[in-house]
Amino acid sequence: MKPINHDYLRFAIFLGTFITLAIFETTRPRRKLSNPRIGRWFTNLSLTFANELLVKAVLGGAALGAAEYASERGWGFLNDVELSWPVEFVLGFLFLDFMVYLQHVVAHALPFLWRFHMVHHSDLDVDVTTALRFHPLDMLISMFYRIGLVAAMGIDPWTVVLFEIILNASLQFNHSNIKLAPVVDGRLRQFVATPDFHRVHHSSEPEETNSNFGFIISWWDKLCGTYRAEPGMPYNLMQIGLGEYREADELSLQSLITLPASPRMGTYSFKKAE
Ligand SMILES: [Zn+2]
Repeated sequence: MKPINHDYLRFAIFLGTFITLAIFETTRPRRKLSNPRIGRWFTNLSLTFANELLVKAVLGGAALGAAEYASERGWGFLNDVELSWPVEFVLGFLFLDFMVYLQHVVAHALPFLWRFHMVHHSDLDVDVTTALRFHPLDMLISMFYRIGLVAAMGIDPWTVVLFEIILNASLQFNHSNIKLAPVVDGRLRQFVATPDFHRVHHSSEPEETNSNFGFIISWWDKLCGTYRAEPGMPYNLMQIGLGEYREADELSLQSLITLPASPRMGTYSFKKAE
């Protein structure tokens, strides 16, 4: 199969989604931001930039490369069975989304992974840029994991491209600080992770943080018993972030990069919350 160059497509969709959501966040915000946007955006966008460079340098388009390599060699379950493309796409997409959900649960449950993932949760507000705030090692671990999944399952290259694009757009959407009418949120969350659905996951209350792990589809939380319909406090008053990290100097770019080396773990991991 001809290699797919999806970089321009991916970037155009990313930028279009980002600008649209940023405009709605300004004109129809769900919550009043508790901190000036400028400092958080600098931190979050710097991490994005660093992550993009790192992932490109270390892995290139490796998830897609793994899909192309596996399909050329007939590796993986989906390369063994004869299915029409739409069926193969739906199966591959559901499989990847469920496995990403599981990875997210494990990132909260295992202290070693939580120390990287807590950088994402340390944001004191949630908006479209929070979707991009990941520690570089959290990002790399996720990429290696997805490469393994794609190769093992034999997921079709176009399914991988579309999944990555939809995952990015969905992360931007469900982290955005946009106000949706309750009826719209209710309808949408029957199928997908909405901003209010995911906001519960960014609560500073450990039992709320350890719920609503889904990134695209909302079913996995409902099926696996990790779904929480609402936070204890109203959405516009609930506290976002981590209880242990609320000071500006602890949340600077430099502090966040080094945070996993000696984190204050608090009560967030599943193990400690029990
Ligand atoms: Zn999380």
